[in-house]
Amino acid sequence: MAKALDSFLEENLQQLKSQGLYNEIDVIEGANGPVIEIDGRRLINLSSNNYLGLATNGQLKEAAKCAIDRYGVGAGAVRTINGTLDLHQKLEEKIAEFKGTEAAISYQSGFNCNMAAISAVMDKDDCILSDQLNHASIIDGCRLSKAKIVAYAHSDMDDLRRKAKETAESGRYRKIMVITDGVFSMDGDLAKLPEIVEIAREFDLITYVDDAHGSGVTGNGRGTVKHFGLEKDIDFQIGTLSKAIGVVGGYVAGKKKLIDWLKVRSRPFLFSTAVPPGDVAATIAAIDLLMRSEELTRRLWENGNYFKEGLKKLGFVTGNSETPITPCIIGDEKLTQQFSKRLIEEGVYAKAIVYPTVPKGTGRVRNMPTAGHTKEMLDEALAVYEKVGRELGVI
Ligand code: PMP
Repeated sequence: MAKALDSFLEENLQQLKSQGLYNEIDVIEGANGPVIEIDGRRLINLSSNNYLGLATNGQLKEAAKCAIDRYGVGAGAVRTINGTLDLHQKLEEKIAEFKGTEAAISYQSGFNCNMAAISAVMDKDDCILSDQLNHASIIDGCRLSKAKIVAYAHSDMDDLRRKAKETAESGRYRKIMVITDGVFSMDGDLAKLPEIVEIAREFDLITYVDDAHGSGVTGNGRGTVKHFGLEKDIDFQIGTLSKAIGVVGGYVAGKKKLIDWLKVRSRPFLFSTAVPPGDVAATIAAIDLLMRSEELTRRLWENGNYFKEGLKKLGFVTGNSETPITPCIIGDEKLTQQFSKRLIEEGVYAKAIVYPTVPKGTGRVRNMPTAGHTKEMLDEALAVYEKVGRELGVI
């Protein structure tokens, strides 16, 4: 190894470890369901994004198996050479129908999708107004585009309006985009999309919503744009197929003209191999299921509300979540880590989220109750929360 690399790694790994910021990775033995096994121990799982339990759903598994039998395990090429199977086309038609748009394009992941879509339309002559708490993949996608990036305070519509006005009136930019998460994953709050659309109209902003945590969850499962009835007003509805949808991949849904452009200009679509057929077939089955019935989404909300109310009754602070994402805010970073460690020792897998992922002093244990949890599992988890909360003086 080059000496420069060796000393770089040594120094930085040591620093992370001494600050308690080096994340040891837990390995799950088996499926990532409502109950998981780690080191042979059973734990109630409150940390996965498998909101609807679709990652282990029988219909999805069957669809994947049939597709593997018919098409094999790989797509064989990038989408623009000959990796586009009829399955990819069917998936994209389904996504457009599900999202209420003219067309859609799919990618290998949600992360990839942000890298692809932002840089396909924005460049150095443009400006992006970005919510301060946007996801890392949005930030990286914005950077890749070389556009000027202006962050606005989280969901602060006065700040957004001021910055939109300044940017538009400067006359320096050819295009201006406003970009936001639909659901903010650390607090579970929703973006103020009606106000964002109003500001966008006033200053001719391109609107871009990453609904990674909203698809399958908000808007009776159809997402946060649908929740606000703004399907005609948002230019880019993007998201992931790996959380509530349960499989893997990302998508952009929007006007046909936009999707046509992304098909010829978004680099991961052109230069990275297409999603394997088994995954695509499972995703089609997931969206079919969500279009047929809202039952799983209803169960998710019921469990989310039950767990949130349970924590509040015990005296925990759960913040301003508007979705099933339930943060339990502890504050101090070390105490938050200790709290999560004790929960895990007692059989509840709920991870600590601390600075720099969230602002200093707002450490929290983030809980994701899912449609797959039973009331008994949630009660068991609440009992552990009560025990650990009293033990550590949090309640
Ligand atoms: N955008 C947001 C807002 C996310 O929360 C995530 C997942 N953490 C992603 C994009 C990335 O999605 P994927 O896991 O499919 O790459």
